Amino acid sequence: MIAPERIAELRAREEAAFADAHPRCREQFERAQEHLLGGVPMNWMRRWPGSFPLFVESALGAHSTCVDGHGYIDLCLGDTGAMTGHAPPATIAAIVDRAPRGLTTMLPGEDAIWVAGELARRFGLPVWQLALSATDANRFALRLARHATGRSKVLVFDWCYHGTVDETLVALGDDGRVGARPGNTGPPVDPAATTEVVEFNDREALERVLATGEVACVLAEPALTNIGIVLPDPGFHDALRELTRSTGTLLVIDETHTICAGPGGATAAWGLDPDLLVIGKPIGGGIPAAAYGMTEAVAARVSAAMLGDDTDVSGIGGTLAANVLAMAAVRATLGTNLREEDFAVAAPLAERWADDVAAVIGEHDLPWSVQRLGCRAEYWFCPPPRTGAEAAAAVDHDLDALMHLYALNRGVLLTPFHNMALLCPSHTSADVDRHTEVFAAAVGALLASTRR
Ligand code: PMP
Repeated sequence: MIAPERIAELRAREEAAFADAHPRCREQFERAQEHLLGGVPMNWMRRWPGSFPLFVESALGAHSTCVDGHGYIDLCLGDTGAMTGHAPPATIAAIVDRAPRGLTTMLPGEDAIWVAGELARRFGLPVWQLALSATDANRFALRLARHATGRSKVLVFDWCYHGTVDETLVALGDDGRVGARPGNTGPPVDPAATTEVVEFNDREALERVLATGEVACVLAEPALTNIGIVLPDPGFHDALRELTRSTGTLLVIDETHTICAGPGGATAAWGLDPDLLVIGKPIGGGIPAAAYGMTEAVAARVSAAMLGDDTDVSGIGGTLAANVLAMAAVRATLGTNLREEDFAVAAPLAERWADDVAAVIGEHDLPWSVQRLGCRAEYWFCPPPRTGAEAAAAVDHDLDALMHLYALNRGVLLTPFHNMALLCPSHTSADVDRHTEVFAAAVGALLASTRR
């Protein structure tokens, strides 16, 4: 419907405007080439739109500023790492209070007791361990599930993302076989040896694969959030729980993104009943921290290994995990953020964002859609997808890049690799309205000459 030439033409115009407006970012990017691969400290930072990334000066609340002095309405919020809003004041105060008394000790402190109690209260699982990242927490959960069941395989949904976890960087090929996901760099083994993959919302495939009795656990987001937002069909989670239980398969729910659904994630909001649960990203307010929880039954099956003499080489844990600085940050963050009253502000803002974007889509009769889960909303260039594969088929990298750059040049940051907006209590309706205005202008510009 939208001519590729028009996308290319607009992109060239936006690229030029971006480069003109960001001489300092460009200068820092050029300096960074000397010792940083590709001019960035972490490869994903090249996925922002524009021929170089913004270099950040500050990020506070719902806004960030680049070194050229331009301010942005930040709808990326560190891709969920800053879902509370940047630099939450209570977290900063806790860091300032804790840091002069030690940062990392490989010994527990009292904050960890509070944190585990709060995680248990929010997610309903009684036993917890801490990690440094959601990736690590997922890796540890998979190990525990394999240890507890004595089974070798894990099952994930097609187009899932759970961090840089080897078993999960997989995709179903056109022939229905499991293979490495495009982009998977240096996989240690053929992922078909470790992983089963089924489409989200496909109960029959799930039943068929679990019936083999070879699967240690299903690792699932409650809704897919990394290929647009793909919501579960009514009854899908009941079926997932019944099938895992009846086949002796553990259910691991990854709430790292779906914490957007409420204080206890979708697990609390939808009454899910996992055996293990992983949460990362925003719990430290931006300080690296993650956690994985388990039922008493799982704890009983793994505690001998977890508490034995060889636990330091178990493949689970890490020297800096649960460091006292991170524990202070998590305590302060969960004590004052991501609570019912915070979602009561952020979710209606996301609803306004989604309704307004849907209205623009409707006005132009585009075959696009918007999905929302709590304070996270996302538009996608197809009708609401039911599976990851449907969503993936609609990815248009050129159109994505244009929409993102068009927004960035007008003071709005969207998350790279998504058309996603995260709303936090520091955002305002004026921020949402500005996004709508910019989105409508981008669509208008795209269609103007297409229909010319
Ligand atoms: N789980 C989910 C659902 C995620 O979306 C991500 C990252 N996007 C992770 C885990 C991994 O988080 P991290 O990169 O912080 O380890």
